Amino acid sequence: MINETMYGYGASKSSIRDIAAYAAVRKAEIGVENVFDFSLGNPSVPAPAAVAESLKRSAELPPVQVHGYTPANGLPACREAVAASLTRRFSAEMGDAPVAVADDLYLTCGAAASLSITLHSVTNPGDEVIVIAPYFPEYRVWIETCGCTCVEVMADATTFQVDADAVSAAITERTAAVIIDSPNNPTGAVYTRETLEKLADVLEARGEELGHPIYLISDEPYREITYGVEVPWVPSIYARTIVCYSYSKSLSLPGERIGWVLVPPTNPEHDRLVLSIAGAGRTLGFVCAPAIFQRVVTDCVDEPSDVAAYAENRAALTEGLAAAGFEYVEPDGAFYLWVKALEPDAGAFFERARAHELLPVPSDSFGCPGWVRVSYCVSHDLIVNSLPAWKALAAEYK
Ligand code: PLP
Repeated sequence: MINETMYGYGASKSSIRDIAAYAAVRKAEIGVENVFDFSLGNPSVPAPAAVAESLKRSAELPPVQVHGYTPANGLPACREAVAASLTRRFSAEMGDAPVAVADDLYLTCGAAASLSITLHSVTNPGDEVIVIAPYFPEYRVWIETCGCTCVEVMADATTFQVDADAVSAAITERTAAVIIDSPNNPTGAVYTRETLEKLADVLEARGEELGHPIYLISDEPYREITYGVEVPWVPSIYARTIVCYSYSKSLSLPGERIGWVLVPPTNPEHDRLVLSIAGAGRTLGFVCAPAIFQRVVTDCVDEPSDVAAYAENRAALTEGLAAAGFEYVEPDGAFYLWVKALEPDAGAFFERARAHELLPVPSDSFGCPGWVRVSYCVSHDLIVNSLPAWKALAAEYK
């Protein structure tokens, strides 16, 4: 018999993907250059040249080696390279404490798998998981699939930083974990050290009061995409952090499905958590992440992201929208602009934008009314060419 819950998730789709599908149809009808598709977070910056060089090296290996199974948690050489890179980058923040060794890492098929695995490993059916709204919509799906309840806590209404007091008020004896995402999709906010310290104090105190740990799941696919601000290493602030990462954005490899989960060695339940992550990977079938891309990560772990291209897009878009009279959150990271809709109903605003061939994503699916997300990891020309349409849209509301 078909599982009705799974049928429901399949039949309902994500609104981001629905808009992207509409954009594809519309591009075929009126031409790619005439559709201002700001829906997906699909990087327009090409993967670094080192990725292609690594792929060539893989192609020269004996076929069985290229395509063969790796260990379930990934190639030791890849995990060693990632651990060494994390240690180089974050050991100063950790003081004398270790950042990571190879066995703390579990390689996955992107952040989606990292989060799914992590949620399964730290929750039990009936638990609650707190998300900070607006939030990446798939969090709800992954949380509910664990038999848990997704509890939305609004971020600060102006800065979109985590509101630690609101998180504290939402914690119950059933709270198992909190998910944060910084640099943030969809607002572009980067959580400051002060924000994270306040959150850590709340989680520490409430966990002690309740007599069970509250885990902090730090989802970080945009860590390297920032515009001159610090992205603190969360495990240095809260010991019970588990880090979820992916190379989808930093190396522009979203279709290749490669990332990792890190249980930092300083996590008080480290050894049991590492096995629980392995168990969740095993039960969900997320074993042996794509082998060729494990080799790419080994070779490219320290390749810088081309943030300059996104910075140029960000400047053109924010200047253009400000001139047209839009309000938005100044993004410190990621490649999304969170723009206030010109009417309370973001869905209705989206329909009026669509009439100008502008395709942002209405905020309701991110758990927050009245805004749209504009994904600016598109070509610079698309942004520049869209500005008259944004201006015309704003003029309709004057
Ligand atoms: N988490 C956030 C905040 C994201 O924006 C995304 C993708 O856009 C994911 C997780 C999933 O990433 P991946 O494509 O690596 O599975």
